[in-house]
Amino acid sequence: MAEKNLEQMQQAVAEIRERMAAAARAAGRDPAAVQLCAACKTRTAETIALSAGLDIDLFGENHVQELCANFDAGAYCGKPSHFIGHLQTNKIKKVLGRASLIQSVDSLRLLEAIDKEAGKANLVQDILLEVNIGAEASKSGVSPEELWPLLDAAAAQEHIRVKGLMAIPPVNDNDDENRAYLARVYQLFVRAGERGYSNVSMETLSMGMSGDYENAIREGATLVRIGTAIYGERDYGPKA
Ligand SMILES: *Cc1c(COP(=O)(O)O)cnc(C)c1O
Repeated sequence: MAEKNLEQMQQAVAEIRERMAAAARAAGRDPAAVQLCAACKTRTAETIALSAGLDIDLFGENHVQELCANFDAGAYCGKPSHFIGHLQTNKIKKVLGRASLIQSVDSLRLLEAIDKEAGKANLVQDILLEVNIGAEASKSGVSPEELWPLLDAAAAQEHIRVKGLMAIPPVNDNDDENRAYLARVYQLFVRAGERGYSNVSMETLSMGMSGDYENAIREGATLVRIGTAIYGERDYGPKA
């Protein structure tokens, strides 16, 4: 399937921004307090570069290979890039310096490996801890019970700064259930902030995708990750 052209993407982003702002206002929040992350997996570097000129704040990549290729090609046109996918420890080195925020840290092992590599590179890496309230076996993220020891461990790392939480709620057509899930993530976000660590600041709550970003904003998201609604359906088939 052909990717959207610039005009189509521009229209899509304008509509998303309107809906984001309306959802923020409905919740008594400042629309400027919610960032739009373009989840650009599978898109070409050309499409990504075109979209960089639109009203999006940053890019989110799921795969290290795509992050490297797009970053090195200058496809983000100077906008920040975040890593939002499953990260293998042997690929951390490639992500450092290319992703200003690693959103998807969900194990002590990964946390310690990032700290070690960041130390070697003499930098401090910003991260989010990924939570999974539903405890679905297929999804990444730590349970609420596992979050506290992970946060304790993260707070003790020299080369890591925790900036918030990330969640990928299960796909749910039931609006109430979706909102209840998002609200529980928000509660964790607030509680995490109340623990008062010196190198943990709960600034970013990353939740909400094409199907539920308005709900996510109503429930407190500060960053939504949107792919399909900006770029169209993804084509995972072999490239021609
Ligand atoms: C692909 C992806 C998104 C965007 O999903 P859409 O439904 O296409 O908006 C958001 N977050 C993560 C982690 C993703 O992998």
